[in-house]
Amino acid sequence: MSTPLTFPVDADVPRRTAEEREAILANPGFGKHFTDHMATATWTDGEGWHDGRVQAYGPITLMPSAAVLHYAQEIFEGLKAYRHEDGSVWSFRPEANAARMARSAARLTLPSLTEEEFVDSLRALVAVDVDWVPAHDAGEASLYLRPFMYASEAFLGVRPAKEVTYSVIASPAGPYFSGGLNPVSLWISTQYARAGEGGTGAAKCGGNYASSLAGQLEGIEHGCDQAVFLDSSTHTYIEELGGMNLFFVTRDNRLLTPELTGTILEGVTRASFLELSKELGLTPEERRIPIEEWKDGAASGEITEVFACGTAAVVTPVGELRWDGGSCDARRDGAVGEVTRTIRERLLDIQYGRAEDTHGWLTRLA
Ligand SMILES: *Cc1c(COP(=O)(O)O)cnc(C)c1O
Repeated sequence: MSTPLTFPVDADVPRRTAEEREAILANPGFGKHFTDHMATATWTDGEGWHDGRVQAYGPITLMPSAAVLHYAQEIFEGLKAYRHEDGSVWSFRPEANAARMARSAARLTLPSLTEEEFVDSLRALVAVDVDWVPAHDAGEASLYLRPFMYASEAFLGVRPAKEVTYSVIASPAGPYFSGGLNPVSLWISTQYARAGEGGTGAAKCGGNYASSLAGQLEGIEHGCDQAVFLDSSTHTYIEELGGMNLFFVTRDNRLLTPELTGTILEGVTRASFLELSKELGLTPEERRIPIEEWKDGAASGEITEVFACGTAAVVTPVGELRWDGGSCDARRDGAVGEVTRTIRERLLDIQYGRAEDTHGWLTRLA
């Protein structure tokens, strides 16, 4: 508990050859390939964090009785490392991910890392696997970083685990949409909710994703790409998708997004768009948004653009909304809207160092 957590690198970790790496980087996809290393640390009750290290990426050993496998005491984060033109490597607002992970940890009764420990773990991994960060000119590719923490204690009793493992793995990611910005269709889930009042909706935990899958399938069965979830108590207000926040652009240049009610995940992309909106001549507006307002606004032309956002895909335009007994086009001409394009480009320009980082959002990793 007293010694600070550090992440020294194991010697002699086998690495893929430059040829093997380049073959993967030529077409990385998303979440399929991983770098040579991973960062890990262990927390034990009474002792705190210890045994931080960067070791070979590979299978982990868990007892079948490990609490996470039974009670899903697990949280994660997602952020990217971007290569700038001069070869340096940067992350975007990692302190926001550190703070969110600490909030998720509190909700799932897991221990937390300090912001410094969190950023150190990213830096240690990226430094040793820096060749896995795609080139600056690789078409907005990046190295996706996935920190996660889980109850590794071998115990079936129901209580917060006394042994916890933290880890960071890294996966080269191509442009999320290789075919360009294709609008998706959304299904309003009627059978399922993603989160409920007092639940874990605001925490980034695996359990939320597990429970959103049935809603996703419901959407796919209705011919849609994804599901949009409404508030679970009144089925009236728009919340978010399974893993992305939602934005609406109005005819009079307001940028609307559902307010954080405790059942919505506070996206870093969401927060950044709210800040960027003013620079783009938009008026940000966070409030409860009835699903009927979307349907009416799409029909009347009051809502001109709809998009979802998150770190992995940055921006996903929404083309169509469907529900039991009806549908509407999110955008009548079917094209990707001007604001959707502009705000996405603005964020990517900052992340890739093509625009000045006037907000102080970038942290150098390598
Ligand atoms: C991670 C996540 C988001 C997006 O958050 P970002 O920080 O922007 O990547 C949105 N909704 C859910 C449910 C999420 O898990």
